Amino acid sequence: MALTQKLSDKPRILIVGGGYVGLTVAQMLQKKVKAAGGIVTLVDPLPYMTYQPFLPEVVGGHVEARHAVIGHRKHLKHTEIITGKVTSVDHEAKTAVVGLGEGESVEVPYQDIIMAAGATTRTFPIEGLAEHGIGLKTIEEAESLRNHILERLESASTMTDEAAKARALTFAVVGGGFAGIETIAEMEDIIRAAVAHNPRLSQSDVRLVLVEAMGRIMPEVSEDQASTVVEHLRGRGIEVLLNTSLSSAVDGVLTLISMADKSEVDKFGADTLVWTAGVAANAVARASSFPVDERGRITASATLQILNEDGDVIPGAWTAGDIAAVPDLTGAGPGGFCVPNAQHASRQAKVLAKNLFSVRYGSGDVAEYKHESLGVVAGMGMYKGVGSPLGVKLRGPLAWLAHRGYHGMAIPTWERKVRVAGGWVNELVFGRDFTPIRGQENPRDAFIEAAGGKKKEAAK
Ligand SMILES: Cc1cc2nc3c(=O)[nH]c(=O)nc-3n(C[C@H](O)[C@H](O)[C@H](O)COP(=O)(O)OP(=O)(O)OC[C@H]3O[C@@H](n4cnc5c(N)ncnc54)[C@H](O)[C@@H]3O)c2cc1C
Repeated sequence: MALTQKLSDKPRILIVGGGYVGLTVAQMLQKKVKAAGGIVTLVDPLPYMTYQPFLPEVVGGHVEARHAVIGHRKHLKHTEIITGKVTSVDHEAKTAVVGLGEGESVEVPYQDIIMAAGATTRTFPIEGLAEHGIGLKTIEEAESLRNHILERLESASTMTDEAAKARALTFAVVGGGFAGIETIAEMEDIIRAAVAHNPRLSQSDVRLVLVEAMGRIMPEVSEDQASTVVEHLRGRGIEVLLNTSLSSAVDGVLTLISMADKSEVDKFGADTLVWTAGVAANAVARASSFPVDERGRITASATLQILNEDGDVIPGAWTAGDIAAVPDLTGAGPGGFCVPNAQHASRQAKVLAKNLFSVRYGSGDVAEYKHESLGVVAGMGMYKGVGSPLGVKLRGPLAWLAHRGYHGMAIPTWERKVRVAGGWVNELVFGRDFTPIRGQENPRDAFIEAAGGKKKEAAK
């Protein structure tokens, strides 16, 4: 039977993307829409929403990878779920094509559509980056990075080739925004802890490098706070290279150049290269029939409705989150638009859900989205952090506590809040877990060997 025959024939609200926006909207609308005779359908290539602010904590081993994701089926019982990827949208015909893997696809009709596919990692054409780098946008990347780091430390401790050992113990992160800073800080923290437990390694063998093209890090915090963070990271032995960029990563040899005159600043081998130098609106925005701005974002009104080229609302079309250019009515956002973060995405989702329901099933009244930032707070390893929540500048254990308190409460569903908090308590009681799980890339190797087959070349 074709999938189309298994889908609901009720008037459909189609949500493209089950992240912050998609999950929140589906949670708010699923029962109400069902009661009104319609159906909410959510399409996402992943069967879960990823709580991205916890990705650095997954790298650091404080949050279990499974606990940082929220399963769609478990938490959206009244939503029709399609695990697949929207490849195109024809809003005239009110249909979206969903790729289902293995070459199959299905055309899904809808009455209303919500474009909520978020953003993807933005890279530049740097030779060797695709072969040697890893991003930090998905749970798979975070978990794999953690295992890779710990595995490199373990391997380095038995290496006799000094050059190979130096490469294994060199860790670079490119991009000094929030994600990059939290990531390198968590990496340093877990690396130091693991090295302290390995008598064949010493802390001075480890090299950690943060590369940032701008003259400062963390544009989200004030300049003096950013300078304090730079000092703090340097105090932990992390080389923070400002006004510097990566020009090549061929064969895992990183060439760093000065942004001022493009001269070579450094060249070294590193087995670990993490890329956190920005995100771009998901390409499905351009593959839809909706207008996008010069940055590829779908143009939205403050009511979260998609606008046509003349600036008029397109009926039945909605958007929010990282894929959308939503006007920032507080005037704080760069270029007059909301910055792409979870604070906006989750709040926009709530306004969108109410507006859409009102237009489709209610009075038709719509509200405008306006949100004053609550400030930011970053975790930087155990008992370390920085931020300015509600305008109060914090550093150290207080900021770390504020980070955990905020995100522990912000992760969707009580079940996840409790699991995450439980993991933190376990860590405090039993100490840090820095055991790498090996062979995740090729888990069948042991069996293949036992069965006399040929193993795949193991990825380093
Ligand atoms: C490492 C890291 C740390 C962060 N820390 C913070 C923080 O501390 N505070 C903060 O406010 N923000 C933070 N953010 C940003 C925040 O996570 C995002 O702004 C937020 O997730 C945006 O929500 P969204 O719903 O627009 O997109 P997402 O949450 O990214 O969801 C998009 C969904 O769309 C799906 N999708 C993609 N393509 C398709 C397709 N073709 N068809 C169907 N579905 C598709 C994806 O699988 C995904 O599930 C962080 C981000 C990262 C990467």
